[in-house]
Amino acid sequence: MGVSKAIKEAITEAKICLDTKGVGWLINDLNVHPVGSDKHIGGKYVYDHDKNTTDIYLEPKTDELSLTTVFLHECGHRLYTEEFTPAERKEIRAYYNKLRKRYSLPSITDMIDALIGEPIEKFGVVQKVTRPKKGEQFWVFELDSDDVIEVEGLDSLEFFFYRHSPTVTDQQLEVFPTSYSYTDNMEWFAEVFAFWCEDDVPPSLDKFLSRLLKPYARKTI
Ligand SMILES: [Zn+2]
Repeated sequence: MGVSKAIKEAITEAKICLDTKGVGWLINDLNVHPVGSDKHIGGKYVYDHDKNTTDIYLEPKTDELSLTTVFLHECGHRLYTEEFTPAERKEIRAYYNKLRKRYSLPSITDMIDALIGEPIEKFGVVQKVTRPKKGEQFWVFELDSDDVIEVEGLDSLEFFFYRHSPTVTDQQLEVFPTSYSYTDNMEWFAEVFAFWCEDDVPPSLDKFLSRLLKPYARKTI
């Protein structure tokens, strides 16, 4: 299956970002497959150890992150899985655990409760939140403009409100750029790697990642 124009553009853009960090070689010998937008996967990385093949699946439409960021995230998984030494992975785990201890994030319930009465960028003030009843998928957010927002599933919900909830501080947002990055050390690394490639991390993280990636930076023409 051929890849779409949007995917081609995302790969080209990602390559530029990766090159500036000296890791443009990460997209060599890689198969990219488009995935239907009904799958809700965003992106997926698969490494076949026996065959030594790498496949990345991309869903052309993602909620908030650009396709470029999703692709960079999957490249981060490749780095972690195929390149890093056990000692380097251990270092990432230790750094991630330290951050989790320092910045404990509020629960999803607290994040949502804190939204009531709050103005949300572009949407207005949240008046009421209704959780999905049995067999339903959608959370319903009623706004002061009489509009409603329906959000499907916990993943996209967390994503959406993590960035808007007043219970999440700017410092937390810097080191955990998405709620997904809070999942575990591998997802955290893939997320911050993507943001780092796009020059969107605080100095402390930049220092950590630049040092970690130094042995992998190769000159590109
Ligand atoms: Zn991931």
